Amino acid sequence: IVDARAIHKHFGPLHVLKGVDLTVAERELVFVIGPSGSGKSTLLRCLNRLEEPTSGSILVDGIDMLDKRTDINRARQRIGMVFQSFNLYPHMTALGNVALALRKVLKQGRAEAEQRAQAALARVHLADRADHYPGQLSGGQQQRVAIARAIALEPRVMLFDEPTSALDPELVGGVLQAMRELREDGMTMVVVSHEMGFARAAADRVVFMADGMKLEEGPPGQIFGDPQHERTRAFIRQIE
Ligand code: ATP
Ligand code: MG
Repeated sequence: IVDARAIHKHFGPLHVLKGVDLTVAERELVFVIGPSGSGKSTLLRCLNRLEEPTSGSILVDGIDMLDKRTDINRARQRIGMVFQSFNLYPHMTALGNVALALRKVLKQGRAEAEQRAQAALARVHLADRADHYPGQLSGGQQQRVAIARAIALEPRVMLFDEPTSALDPELVGGVLQAMRELREDGMTMVVVSHEMGFARAAADRVVFMADGMKLEEGPPGQIFGDPQHERTRAFIRQIE
């Protein structure tokens, strides 16, 4: 469902992605790891064209993301993204935040948007927090609202960039649980994270990136248990 080939990205003199290929099959969960600065976030951002790759090709759900003729706003509706920071509107309730996305992006009326928003909140077990403002929610709950906002738009693939990095340790579990359930419902997901336990339990494939390249990929058992590349070995030793 995602087919990215030979992605290069330069920031001025900086060559940040050096010909990365990434394919993700329907219902697959691909987990991306690698040292800080290796290009993980840039790669995710290229997939929905929050960053413009310097060269390469990207197909998402059959749509050519780099074709000038592609309606990029429509194409982005198929790609949900969740970041480290939740970016909720503080003056709107959880329900209001999710419904706003539906109204703005899908042009739904208030009643329909609120109904769908309520259903999305229920999927992340926050139905009873719909009327709370972000300031009245824990970081973990706020991140689950951000996940609800993304899935309410019914994307074909979800991209997660360190969704739990900003959370206190005791709040991480609830967010990972929401992600696990999303996966069990058949969502296609690409996850950049340091939560190796989650990767072992839930990932179909782990991609190791370093210096803007994909150095190694394989099932979690192989990447964590028997990494082939010296850089992968060093990275895994250091995080465990
Ligand atoms: P981390 O684990 O710290 O999040 P990362 O693997 O996500 O790291 P990226 O954020 O993709 O790494 O950054 C890759 C490289 O690109 C870094 O050297 C970074 O400084 C550089 N970079 C990222 N965004 C920009 C930008 N907008 N302008 C210039 N350089 C950038
Ligand atoms: Mg990053």
